[in-house]
Amino acid sequence: MRIIQHQLAIGTRHATPYYVIRGSIPGDTLVITAGIHGNERASILAAYRLLSNLKQGSLCLRRGTLVLVPIVNRSAYRRGIRGVPDLNRTFPRTKGQKASHSLSAAMFRLAANMKARWYIDLHEANGLSKVNRRFLGQTLIACPGSSEVPAVRRVVRRVNRSIASRRKQFSIRLSTLPGSGRHAAKHVLKAKAITVETCWSLPVVTRVRDQSRVIRNLLNEAGML
Ligand SMILES: [Zn+2]
Repeated sequence: MRIIQHQLAIGTRHATPYYVIRGSIPGDTLVITAGIHGNERASILAAYRLLSNLKQGSLCLRRGTLVLVPIVNRSAYRRGIRGVPDLNRTFPRTKGQKASHSLSAAMFRLAANMKARWYIDLHEANGLSKVNRRFLGQTLIACPGSSEVPAVRRVVRRVNRSIASRRKQFSIRLSTLPGSGRHAAKHVLKAKAITVETCWSLPVVTRVRDQSRVIRNLLNEAGML
């Protein structure tokens, strides 16, 4: 396993590190992004935890290539805000359409150049989805009718087994969000695209733990562990 650091949007004010981790067996590329929204702290911490587990060898990538971007929107992160404009509305909506922000354009180009087969976007949201279906906290989101839905169902089932309180368990949402990284990865790159949302009202250790469990299960579904 090799870990190499690069810079996304290099030479611009949006420059941010990303990591390419290659397993010893060639395979599909899986992209993980966090910090598209700068104030969604647990997703960023989970991305760094994944990186340190890989560096320390407590997690080993056996097959394929992982592209990890721990903080996409670094200026929003520094200011502790979601980001203006909302970067997750600026990705290409259709094939041939350009991203409407230079940072999402760089992120999308990276995913396209690396031939992403999986695209996992880590987020946080308000409310517990098991308490009220309108809430997005504790959900995995995929586009309706997509081929990754069975894998998402398996991941939710496995992760929920480790969460004793039913209210805090994950649900599945099937929805499209044009302009989001997930939508662009799905509809333009034809990747398996999933958004992970933990709930802001839970303690940060719980959120990081849940994000980490979801990530590990998704890497397993992609045949990378
Ligand atoms: Zn978000």
